[in-house]
Amino acid sequence: MALLQISEPGQSAAPHQHNLAAGIDLGTTNSLVATVRSGLAETLPDNEGHHLLPSIVHYAKDAAPQVGYAAKAQANIDPLNTIASVKRLMGRGLKDVKTTGTRLPYDFVENEDQGMPMIRTVVGDRSPVQISADILNTLKQRAEKTLGGELTGVVITVPAYFDEAQRQATKDAATLAGLNVLRLLNEPTAAAVAYGLDKSAEGVHAIYDLGGGTFDISILRLQRGVFEVMATAGNSALGGDDFDRAIAQWIMQQAGIADDAEHSHIRELLDIARTAKETLSTNESAPLEIRLEEGSVWQGELSNDQFNQLIDPLIQKTIAPCRRTLRDAGLSTDDINEVVMVGGSTRMPRVREKIGDFFKRTPHVDIDPDKVVAIGAAIQADILAGNKPDDDMLLLDVIPLSLGIETMGGLVEKIIPRNTTIPVARGQDFTTFKDGQTAMAIHVVQGERELVMDCRSLARFELRGIPPMVAGAGRIRVSYQVDADGLLSVSAKEETSGVHSQITVKPSYGLQDNEIERMLKESLEYAEEDVATRTLREQQVEADRVINALRAALKADGQVLLKQHEFLEINTALEDLLKVEQGNDADAIKNAIERINDVTQEFAARRMDASIHQAMKGHRLNDFAENE
Ligand code: ADP
Ligand code: MG
Repeated sequence: MALLQISEPGQSAAPHQHNLAAGIDLGTTNSLVATVRSGLAETLPDNEGHHLLPSIVHYAKDAAPQVGYAAKAQANIDPLNTIASVKRLMGRGLKDVKTTGTRLPYDFVENEDQGMPMIRTVVGDRSPVQISADILNTLKQRAEKTLGGELTGVVITVPAYFDEAQRQATKDAATLAGLNVLRLLNEPTAAAVAYGLDKSAEGVHAIYDLGGGTFDISILRLQRGVFEVMATAGNSALGGDDFDRAIAQWIMQQAGIADDAEHSHIRELLDIARTAKETLSTNESAPLEIRLEEGSVWQGELSNDQFNQLIDPLIQKTIAPCRRTLRDAGLSTDDINEVVMVGGSTRMPRVREKIGDFFKRTPHVDIDPDKVVAIGAAIQADILAGNKPDDDMLLLDVIPLSLGIETMGGLVEKIIPRNTTIPVARGQDFTTFKDGQTAMAIHVVQGERELVMDCRSLARFELRGIPPMVAGAGRIRVSYQVDADGLLSVSAKEETSGVHSQITVKPSYGLQDNEIERMLKESLEYAEEDVATRTLREQQVEADRVINALRAALKADGQVLLKQHEFLEINTALEDLLKVEQGNDADAIKNAIERINDVTQEFAARRMDASIHQAMKGHRLNDFAENE
């Protein structure tokens, strides 16, 4: 075969240098930033030790926006300029937002910005993208201060059900905050990664995420290192806030507080309810103390049993979506291998218990459920930033069709097979076909078929300036590298002279799913035919090589080293090969080549002797001994 395959080592990544990368969970209620330090993924706290950053932004005249706890403190005082839950508005029109039943007490501007509602504040109209950028910027500052340098890139998580517009809005917010997005990652996938489920055997996992105001259930399937979202469901108006409300209502009944109490009083009650709820995650009961309007104080207690009674109906509401996703994925609870708990509300022991019962599995809860998404994102960011050796790659996207190179005879040599997860780098060594060959045409193709004409041509380039050598002596390393965004770079380098050349292409560009499908179907349909054609072409190329080499050898040494009858015998074998070479009979070509190899053995041996003799002329034997 013309371009000889010599080795196929997994090409190692660039020389080591640590890039600062972070994972960001941009949540509806809370956001976090995490990073991998000394091999360990951890969330980063602010100066006061808070890891969670409430996703709330407060705008005031002539001041920088306040984000997080400081903004939360303004919610009662300056509600119209204190924006919470902005994630619900990302990439959505006002109509969509209103029909989902979310109550957002803001002053919306009538005209939308890029399909999104603008909110009127004292500092002017702000878009959801801008508000999200303020949150991201706070996390960026926190990370850069803690890590002592600029972030090279981040991975930001989004709900699995986010559509293109919502994902694009998230990316835009990141750009506005001066962040380089390495990738957007689905929240459930991030949680699965945090638990190392990508390293485990193939399986189907349920990711149960109960946050502050939203509930999501996702069924993920892990196959060959890639997570596929099989089904998602949820309730965008069900979360921890509803639990707070249920408790607050119970308190009002117990303390005899009227339903029409003042807004600020209700807010206070909700805060007390939330504290009680969070206390009950680790205690048997929670003390309650309420200031009544007349100035007196009501004291009470919320027991675990009472609490469970209040929240069971809410937990029950999450079961129906769980059933639905299983049905959508065509699975039953028996098919689920692992259950992962995500979201602050899954800290409630009762939630863990009920969901464990439903799936008949003890859920994973070892990693803080409100940090687990950020931690998974950090692990992914660390890898995408190039801080891990190849074999530790976490891989979430695959190449839909094989990437290959054209070799002699119009054949395709696959360099990266289809379904290989990206990012990936693979190299292969090739050699020159002809004596004195100084250039090589590199043709990059995509597809499963054996012949170049049946595949898709992606790019062509040339490697020039190869020093003239005998055929087969050159070592040309061709490297294919596909980055996380699916961009392919191909480079070729002649190892002895160092001459090199390269090109970048986007392999999936313009390829629709149905085209990929068609190309795959064809490769199956023509598989047998293709293999036969390939064998024939390979024999033809080999015949070509043998003919060229033999002619050159005869020309150089035939007169001197061969007797007349030997010369005739070799020549007859050569003629025989020339006769069958262009035919369709691979076996006939193969036999003719074998015959030539037989009759030229002696000739080859004599040439070897002669060349050694030649090489040693003029050298003293010592020269060789010393060079050993
Ligand atoms: P999101 O993903 O929507 O941003 P989080 O995952 O941060 O939200 O969850 C926030 C919710 O978790 C809040 O309703 C909060 O009260 C609740 N939560 C946090 N800690 C606890 C706890 N110990 N027990 C019960 N609920 C908790
Ligand atoms: Mg969340």
